[in-house]
Amino acid sequence: MSLESTTYVLRGARPLGGDAADVVLRDGVIAEITAAGTADTTGAEVVDAAGQVLLPGLVDLHTHLREPGREDAETVASGTRAAAAGGFTAVHAMANTSPVADTAGVVEQVYRLGQEAGWADVHPVGAVTVGLDGERLAELGAMADSAAHVRVFSDDGRCVADPVLMRRALEYVKAFDGVVAQHAQEPRLTEGAQMNEGIVSAEIGLTGWPAVAEEAIIARDVLLAEHVGSRLHVCHLSTAGSVEIVRWAKSRGIDVTAEVTPHHLILTDDLARSYDPTFKVNPPLRTAADVEAVREGLADGTIDIVATDHAPHSREDKDCEWGAAAFGMTGLETALSVVQETMVDTGRLTWSDVARVLSAAPARIGRVDTGPAAQGRPVAVGEPANLTLVDPAARRTVDGGTQVTASGNTPFRGRELPGQVRATFLRGRATVLDGTPVVAGEAVR
Ligand SMILES: [Zn+2]
Repeated sequence: MSLESTTYVLRGARPLGGDAADVVLRDGVIAEITAAGTADTTGAEVVDAAGQVLLPGLVDLHTHLREPGREDAETVASGTRAAAAGGFTAVHAMANTSPVADTAGVVEQVYRLGQEAGWADVHPVGAVTVGLDGERLAELGAMADSAAHVRVFSDDGRCVADPVLMRRALEYVKAFDGVVAQHAQEPRLTEGAQMNEGIVSAEIGLTGWPAVAEEAIIARDVLLAEHVGSRLHVCHLSTAGSVEIVRWAKSRGIDVTAEVTPHHLILTDDLARSYDPTFKVNPPLRTAADVEAVREGLADGTIDIVATDHAPHSREDKDCEWGAAAFGMTGLETALSVVQETMVDTGRLTWSDVARVLSAAPARIGRVDTGPAAQGRPVAVGEPANLTLVDPAARRTVDGGTQVTASGNTPFRGRELPGQVRATFLRGRATVLDGTPVVAGEAVR
């Protein structure tokens, strides 16, 4: 019997945190949802899911997989294995690889590497400008028409700072229902910046990165999106002012969506006092007031989604002094736990909301919510069996050494977090069982 044809009975699972049920996965779809303890288990593999919350497979709109070019930090295979371990069934792979994903050839290469690895669907993000240089538009249409079917375009890591180029990109993607995902960072206001500009940067003597450098670009871009009638997505929004601008834009009917990272939901710039470059990230960790504002924005729907900005780095790029270290932190394996701690356990989001902000909404923004490989779908009979089972009562201490990602730059090392992904299914095939990634029925690390 091949693995693909294995029938699973998730016994006693709680779909979206509701009442316990038996959920039967067969032939890649959710075949049956019945009262707990009543499903026919003949010939099926039974997964004891008592007390566990069943969510649609998580979808990350913002992942750095580093392949091609920096396979020492992460590969498509290692990054998507980490994604599966974190409950994800699809990731959008950012374009700042080497070579840059600015042609049909590179996005198709990344797409195929994802298919070969088999851990999660990989949807390449196409660069907005050639080489991320911010000078000429890349061939957006060719990437959209390619086998990778690109719908999200971003120079992430860099801002599309030129307003004329940004306008042209917004106009261009309308033809194929694409979206421009902006890394909002005014370059002149952040030259040499190392951390959030504020009391802490002044005290410890690191060059500050003002909130206005993010907010000014977001304000400009929502107005451009309104002007040309296009779709804008704001990457990793991090300040209270950014939340206000997006709230205002939505109230005007502007077609804008926004994401927040798990780390901006929980960590503050106080951590820079340690000079530990693990906490060096772009955009920088902000103040406690900003953390409260992004939580509020996520709770009231101003912020649409949580996206990881998983940014693996090799040791030599991170184990050095703050000023020389690369920006970025890993996040795929801790995202759901951070959302549980900051939003669910505090009563600000339900598990149904979590399914929205970590699955349905990112799938819709990335236009991967329809077709044979649809993601972010309801937990309902007949839907593709892209699912994750999480034990919300579990607690674990994050240990960089036992993470699945190839890189060790987690900001949560030594920290206890709630929740543990027990199983992940990609179109009915288990990618994680008993909390461990599986291939061909065998646990792997
Ligand atoms: Zn970015």
